[in-house]
Amino acid sequence: MSSAEMLGHLISFDTTSCNSNFLLIEFAEAFLRDQGIETIRADYAPGKTNLVASIGPAVDGGVVLSGHTDTVPVTGQTWVTDPFTMTDVDGDLFGRGTCDMKGFLACCLAAAPHLKARNLARPVHLVFSCDEEVSCEGVIPAVRRFGHDMPTPSVCVVGEPTMMDVMTGQKACQAFVTTITGVEAHSSKPALGWSALNEANLLITEINTIAQEMRDKENKDCPFDPAFTTVHVGAVHSGTTVNIVPNLATISWEARLLPDQDTGEIRDRVARFVKARNEIIRATYPDAGIETDNYVNVPGLEPEPDGEAKSLAMRLTGSNRTGVVSYGTEAGHFQAAGMSTVICGPGSIDQAHKPDEFIAASQLVECDRFLAQLGDELSTP
Ligand SMILES: [Zn+2]
Repeated sequence: MSSAEMLGHLISFDTTSCNSNFLLIEFAEAFLRDQGIETIRADYAPGKTNLVASIGPAVDGGVVLSGHTDTVPVTGQTWVTDPFTMTDVDGDLFGRGTCDMKGFLACCLAAAPHLKARNLARPVHLVFSCDEEVSCEGVIPAVRRFGHDMPTPSVCVVGEPTMMDVMTGQKACQAFVTTITGVEAHSSKPALGWSALNEANLLITEINTIAQEMRDKENKDCPFDPAFTTVHVGAVHSGTTVNIVPNLATISWEARLLPDQDTGEIRDRVARFVKARNEIIRATYPDAGIETDNYVNVPGLEPEPDGEAKSLAMRLTGSNRTGVVSYGTEAGHFQAAGMSTVICGPGSIDQAHKPDEFIAASQLVECDRFLAQLGDELSTP
């Protein structure tokens, strides 16, 4: 089966992150089993699992090819084509997930029989993960299998869309929801209550102060754009009407950290501010106060100057340059587990997450070539 035909199958499964990914996983398992390739599942949550398939000898030093099976929703988006039926318009293949990132999964599956037929000296491990678009932590149970009941790979290629360019770095991402509980009162006597909205305002000012300090530390030599850690407030919800002192406020905020930034610095600074405010608030209202939930922690990918993954991917793509990406991926989880890791996959991130998402068929061809050359590289002469 060609990678484009395979992609048509994969996007027919609605694996929006809120759904189970089992239908796609079962399809991939059946296809791989027919090729004589064994698979295991590394479960993450009810209805969400990772597929891990190894091709070649069970030895250390293999190459992981990793991609997520879940997609962002189509809800609220106006599509010209049916998002779950692949539509070829002049060589552009439309459908949800074609680019982000079932195109890479399709190339991996289409390459599997060819890799299986080779006499590989080092294995290729396929990792099809879950829940990337929500927590970016779905892949962790799969990563943990390596070096335990599976061999230890030396390289990981995460096939997020980079137009097959070799990307060696990515910022870390942390997301938070801060919930402020105040005390309601009639607006004519605001002193009888404690405004959660006013507390939110103080906290947002503190977050913006930190954001400006990070901006002042811009490092023009680093490859990221912007070349500093960003801190941003994305949503605030509070209040019901003008004549009530609001008793609740929520603030959604995030930090995107340069890979060498101390991951605790911003979180801890906000926590210290919150602690001081809580002492003031709770002196009068013991049940009021501020709590923060850090619900997303995507590790960064730190560029490896002499990394094995970088040199391998540059050889396979024939490229003589590398870059960095500004979006979050699972790559940092593999790097943290000791694998040399890069991001390199078909399609453009510009088409991801939008209505009428597509991938150019020529990108699949380029990825097919990359995987065929990987087979050459790992084969015994
Ligand atoms: Zn993605």
